[in-house]
Amino acid sequence: MAIDKELLDILACPKCKGDIYINKKEDGLICDACQLLYEIKDEIPIMLIDEALPLDKVEEERKSRKEG
Ligand SMILES: [Zn+2]
Repeated sequence: MAIDKELLDILACPKCKGDIYINKKEDGLICDACQLLYEIKDEIPIMLIDEALPLDKVEEERKSRKEG
């Protein structure tokens, strides 16, 4: 288990202050409202707007990996 559930309860999106949830791979935290993914590195979520990845881009990368 990468991230503590209690920690997730405390964490909020730095942009909209809304709820975030962990993705399936447990390597990122997703904000639905902002469509952003905050990466988790060494079990530490990078809660910086500047470091967040747009969900579109993340999905595209995964798709291209699958198809390619
Ligand atoms: Zn947000």
